[in-house]
Amino acid sequence: MSEQLDLLAIGAHPDDVELAVGGTLILSGRQGLRVGVVDLTRGELGTRGTPERRDQEASNASTFLGLSMRENLGLPDGDITSDGLNALVRVLRRWCPRIVMTHPADCRHPDHTAAHHLVRNACFYSGLQKLDQSADAAPWRPHHLLHFAEVRHFEPDFVVDVTSVWDQRTEALRCYGSQIHSPTYKEQNEEPETYISNLQFFEWIEARARTYGQLAGCTYGEPFQYSGVLGTSNLGAFLHLEASFRQAK
Ligand SMILES: [Zn+2]
Repeated sequence: MSEQLDLLAIGAHPDDVELAVGGTLILSGRQGLRVGVVDLTRGELGTRGTPERRDQEASNASTFLGLSMRENLGLPDGDITSDGLNALVRVLRRWCPRIVMTHPADCRHPDHTAAHHLVRNACFYSGLQKLDQSADAAPWRPHHLLHFAEVRHFEPDFVVDVTSVWDQRTEALRCYGSQIHSPTYKEQNEEPETYISNLQFFEWIEARARTYGQLAGCTYGEPFQYSGVLGTSNLGAFLHLEASFRQAK
């Protein structure tokens, strides 16, 4: 249990978690949480880059995120199905994360939607006593399941203020030169542009963070939906009663 993670972010492809929650991962690590990432596939169907290059990009980005672990499950890109359930259950039982975050249900990319369902199912089945009773796989069910935003409309339950780590978050994202806007990569590789490789998408990343930040009263924000209903026995602490989030700024 000494290796237990506080927070595990799970994405379909290398770069997904950096695009959505890079700031939250960096901030949480700085605040003393043990943070990990699981990429479900190596993104081998990606229009740009190669699996090997994407491995390297993920490794480089990890140095900015301050992670305690990062694993790639090696599931087939474009075919994320329940076949990956046992592998993901074993990861959850090995690392016992208290919080898991992943894609929402309504995504532009089908792999992201498939990842959402796989992660939800794995978080549930991982807690079942009679599913795989081998000695090194004690049941574990994460305490909290969160969904982060993709490109579709997203109504958040709460927003994490990532203003203080925005520059480092951007540095992590820039490691994915084959995937996002990178004049250097474009100069050296004759590959077609994709939905996320152009300058417009890169600028939108900041616009999204600004938009959700403004809603919550900060400069840059990362939005989350909570799976289930949040409860509290301390309303004052829960609602920042001493100084509301906005007033504290
Ligand atoms: Zn993706």
